[in-house]
Amino acid sequence: MESAHKKIFGKEPEEVVYLDVRCPDCGSRIDEFGFCGCGAGES
Ligand SMILES: [Zn+2]
Repeated sequence: MESAHKKIFGKEPEEVVYLDVRCPDCGSRIDEFGFCGCGAGES
């Protein structure tokens, strides 16, 4: 059974590759697609 995270992001949280870059809005790490959980980088 797929987790909610996998439905949303396409992979399990432990599979996500984070870059050594911080979101300018919330300070969290940016993932391999350049997106942050807060929504920054989508536009
Ligand atoms: Zn963010």
